[in-house]
Amino acid sequence: MSIKAYPLQFKAEMKERIWGGRALEGFGLELPPGAIGEGWMISDHPNGITRVENGPLKGLGLDQIREKYGCEWFGTRGSAAGNGRFPLLIKLLDCNDDLSVQVHPVDDYEGLPKGESGKTEMWYILEAKPGAKIIYGLKEHIDAQAMATAIEEDRIMDTLHEVSVKAGDAFYIPAGTVHALCSGVVVAEIQQNSDTTYRLYDYDRPGLDGKPRELHIKDSLQVIAYHDVGASRMDTSDLQAGHWLTIAESPYFHVEKGLIRDSEAANTSIESFIILMIAEGEGHLRWGDGELPARTGDCFLLPATLGRYELSGSLTVLRCSVPAS
Ligand code: ZN
Repeated sequence: MSIKAYPLQFKAEMKERIWGGRALEGFGLELPPGAIGEGWMISDHPNGITRVENGPLKGLGLDQIREKYGCEWFGTRGSAAGNGRFPLLIKLLDCNDDLSVQVHPVDDYEGLPKGESGKTEMWYILEAKPGAKIIYGLKEHIDAQAMATAIEEDRIMDTLHEVSVKAGDAFYIPAGTVHALCSGVVVAEIQQNSDTTYRLYDYDRPGLDGKPRELHIKDSLQVIAYHDVGASRMDTSDLQAGHWLTIAESPYFHVEKGLIRDSEAANTSIESFIILMIAEGEGHLRWGDGELPARTGDCFLLPATLGRYELSGSLTVLRCSVPAS
């Protein structure tokens, strides 16, 4: 039986984290009890596979969708991830406390667990409390030696570059960039489909089980990029309605931000699926013979074969696809 392509919505996989909170309730998500730090919105990772919650494929995991329809629905570029999984992992993060200072490896790091890719990621700040900051890269002139010494002397914070953030800021974080989201921000995260994080520092605090979380100093020191790997930051606040602004460009994902103030139509291409994340607002997504409401926090996976689609209403949208290599 062949099924006509339609926009897939998934039931998010919720993750309790020591740094989590309840803010994702404001993004239309039903949360289990506890400090919820991550909502995995679209995931084909063994640590949390999301299942379709609308239409004829309701109940299927993204891994099953990949097996059945991957080549056609994900597109020529979107189905070509090295580890065989869906290439991207889409999350919402509620940082009610500081996340560990961390770094992710590149694809060819030899210490990668089997089946894992590297992890280049990008953040779009959905909400930020006044004074909110994040850690993003190293201070000038910090090299491998200076970093190793600072860790040994228990003063790693001296080496880290802190920046103030506000809603609408976008950050591109190539693998190798030291970073930490800090308390008071809610973030949309688009990343390679990997769950490999090396922790450098966790503020000497206990984890969910009361014991300190593991650090990975040796791996971290091997994967930190001390040279410029293209990390960048963008203020997107003066975007005009009707335009799409590229906010992250990498070999793994191309991300644009758009403001819809009436309606706007576009087409999928056979090269890549499209992911739409509704950062803010209320409206509709229409295609061929269907329509879905679109609200803050909604994520849609549009198959490459969907064709024409239209967004209408008052919406701030992140649009993501796999670029030509
Ligand atoms: Zn990270």
